[in-house]
Parts: sequence; structure tokens; C-alpha cells
Amino acid sequence: REVVDAAPMAEEKAMEAALRPKALGDFVGQQTVRHQLSLVLQSSRLRGAAADHVLLSGPPGLGKTTLAMIIAAEMDASLRVTSGPAIQHSGDLAAILSSLTEGEVLFVDEIHRMARPAEEMLYMAMEDFRVDIVVGKGAGATSIPLELPQFTLVGATTRAGLLPGPLRDRFGFTGHLEYYGVGELEHVLRRSAELLQVQATDAGFAEIASRSRGTPRVTNRLLRRVRDWALVHEVDLVDDDAAAEALDTYEVDRRGLDRLDRAVLEALCSTFRGGPVGLSTLAILVGEETETVETVAEPYLVREGLLARTPRGRVATEAAWRHLGLEPPEQGAP
Ligand code: ATP
Repeated sequence: REVVDAAPMAEEKAMEAALRPKALGDFVGQQTVRHQLSLVLQSSRLRGAAADHVLLSGPPGLGKTTLAMIIAAEMDASLRVTSGPAIQHSGDLAAILSSLTEGEVLFVDEIHRMARPAEEMLYMAMEDFRVDIVVGKGAGATSIPLELPQFTLVGATTRAGLLPGPLRDRFGFTGHLEYYGVGELEHVLRRSAELLQVQATDAGFAEIASRSRGTPRVTNRLLRRVRDWALVHEVDLVDDDAAAEALDTYEVDRRGLDRLDRAVLEALCSTFRGGPVGLSTLAILVGEETETVETVAEPYLVREGLLARTPRGRVATEAAWRHLGLEPPEQGAP
């Protein structure tokens, strides 16, 4: 696995649990979403009813799971966790829904990957707190209506656009998580460094934060790799030079680009003279799934101004050529 891959590694799950903020007030950054969400939650508390369904969208590792846990905690409700790929039949969903208790929060990660029949069952459950369970097959099949308790669905998706319209419309509130600024990541790092007992200077933290591709999960991971490096090299206080040297070792460059990001840019610049190139062609060239390139590499490259999406395909910007140490082609060149 790449060091800056935003998906969690197995060894990270326990560590992530320890590093997760537990209350909305401790959640760093994402001011807009935090403010909007706190209104939704306060209103539901005042009304004494379950909160509206919440959809959280954004690239991996920005805190969707953490926010779902916070929503449940703030509502004093218990949390049930499942994911789209785990719900392949409507029966899987019916089993979960029918066992929910009043006010419970149901978190469905990667909700865009749920099977279609289950999705349709979910529409009715979200709107009317009711499902129809079909018993039997063919002419003898009957559907039995089942009342559900009021629950709050929290769905997470890497791109809200991947969700079918009818499902998207049934969420009362959609929060878009943005990449974090360097200052916010430094804040996350300081807290984690205390837990991991890593000592660093301000410049050391800033160096790690600026290579963390705007993602708290990545920043926590880079901190652990810097800790390893410092331990082995007997460095007690990590400054910017030490952090840079450690992260260079792991091929995380000064803009936080990893091997996949660079492979995408290299394919664009070297093979296609800067593009435009279709996303699926790019994905094949770098040996990755189209969805990974689209949801993990591309949003960050776009944000960094290294890649642009055009109606004809993806193009490398001048900054991308320069970042790879290449000379951009003359304007108007073929
Ligand atoms: P995925 O969709 O890949 O599961 P996610 O968006 O759900 O990712 P989380 O699992 O919530 O991401 O967060 C990843 C890690 O980053 C957690 O360990 C959490 O502690 C940390 N983290 C995320 N957001 C914040 C934040 N705003 N403040 C502090 N730590 C954060």
C-alpha cells in the first residue's frame, strides 16, 4: 500500500479509534459542515425527534466515519455501522433495518456501492420509516409491510454525484467535506504527536502537514513513519529537515504526491503530451481502477492545480510539467 493512500490500513484501525475526536467541538476544521450539522442536531434535540438523514461526501480519510460517530454521540444514540458493498441483497438491508431501535443512527459507508434492489428498499425506509418485505416467489409472493422505528441514516460517499438522484434527494442535509488546510492538519498532528509521544518543532509539524495531501488520515500515517525514522536515526526532536528526509525516504514528495499521483501526471505528460485523455485510458495506463483514479488521485491533483478536467478529457497543467521537472510544450503545439 502506498504511504499516502487515504484508505485505512489494517494496523491503523485501532490507532484511528484512539485518535478520533469524540465531540463536534473537538473536530478540527470543516467549519461550514460543522456549523450546518450542529444546527441539524440541535433542532432535532429541541424537537425531540430523530435527526434528518445526513449525507457526507468527500474524498477518503477526511473524517466521514468520525463525523457519523460524533452525530450518534451528540444525539445520545447508538450507532450501527455497515457499508454499501456489504448490502448486496434487499434481505441484507431488511435484516439491519428491522433490528434498529428508536432514534438509532445507521451509518452506511460507501453508500453508492449498494445493490439496486436494496437501494429501492432504502428509499421507502428513509421517507416513510416502513419497508415491504416480500415473502415467497412468483405468483404466490406476498409483501408484508413492516413499520420501522424513526432512525437517522448517515450515508458516506466519495462523490455525491455517484448516487442516484432519488437516493440523494432523500437526505435532508448533505455535507461536503473539503481537503484540510496545512494549519488545520498541524492541529491534528499536535494532538496525535502527544498520543504517539513524538517531539517535533513547529517547522517539523509544518513539513509533515504540507505533505499530507490535505487529509487527516494521511497526516497521522506520515507522523508514524516520521516517528519510525526518528527512532532508528536516534533523533529526539524532529525539525523540518528531519521530517523532509524521513518523508523523502517514503517517496512522499514536497507537495504530498505519491507514486499513483505522479504516475497519472507522467502518463499524461510523457505519453499524451499533456492530454486531453479519457479517465479510463489513464486508469489503464497507471494500472489502477478508474474509481480509484477518479476519487483518490484526481481530486487532489485538481485542487493542487496540476490537472484539469475538460469536456474532452483530463489535461496536465503547466504546473504539472514543472512539478515533474519537465518543460511544458509551447502554447498551440500539437
Ligand atoms: P473513509 O471514507 O476512507 O472511511 P473517512 O472520511 O471516514 O474515511 P475517518 O475514518 O473518519 O475518515 O478519519 C480518518 C482518521 O483521520 C481518523 O483516525 C480520525 O482520527 C482522523 N480525522 C479525520 N478528521 C479529523 C478531524 N477533523 N480532526 C481530527 N482528526 C480527524
